[in-house]
Amino acid sequence: MRILLVEDEKDLASIVKQGLEEEGYVVDVAHDGEEGLYMAENFPADALILDIMLPLMDGLTVLSTMRKKGITTPVLLLTARDALLDKIKGLDTGADDYLTKPFVFEELLARVRSLLRRKATVKEAVVRIADLEINTASHEVKRGGKTISLSAKEYALLEYLAYRKGNVVTRTDIVEHIYHEDTDMDSNVVDVYINYLRNKIDKDFKPKLIHTVRGAGYMLKEEE
Ligand code: CA
Repeated sequence: MRILLVEDEKDLASIVKQGLEEEGYVVDVAHDGEEGLYMAENFPADALILDIMLPLMDGLTVLSTMRKKGITTPVLLLTARDALLDKIKGLDTGADDYLTKPFVFEELLARVRSLLRRKATVKEAVVRIADLEINTASHEVKRGGKTISLSAKEYALLEYLAYRKGNVVTRTDIVEHIYHEDTDMDSNVVDVYINYLRNKIDKDFKPKLIHTVRGAGYMLKEEE
């Protein structure tokens, strides 16, 4: 999943970026409101973490401008303590949630996960497909009750497919939402990772859950 973080405090931005990347997310950072709006408009993000107090354009203006332009990316606002008016304005402007600074990183993570589920076909923290179980909070994956260990990238890909279970996910979707900009779009990186996943998720189990949809992409589903 791709997250856009708009935060002008560089230390905080880099800590949050690093923490999110350790969880397998791809993170783009903007350090002012204008850059944030530009990135929200031009790069597909699955969620936006938006600070309110920003140089050049404040977060609430970024939010109202992007909503007017029809950008529906879920937004988590970062507000100052006791800024009740900001919270109310933020929710009325189209924010999905807010978090008061200073915050504990685990809470930010939980709120981001909840935001990501809003647009997903699955609403629970644990996604189940046949006997495959993906705990999106702990990142624990089990099949047939057996724990399967995945790398952060393999997990990110599986989670992306799982949140869209029953729907075709194109290779472009995968490259845009799971990999960094510098990934060579022509490379077979997606096929390579799909193969890694198949070896771990499908090889020793029945039925196969990761399906290739010819000419379109991939789909995680129970039925053949
Ligand atoms: Ca700020």
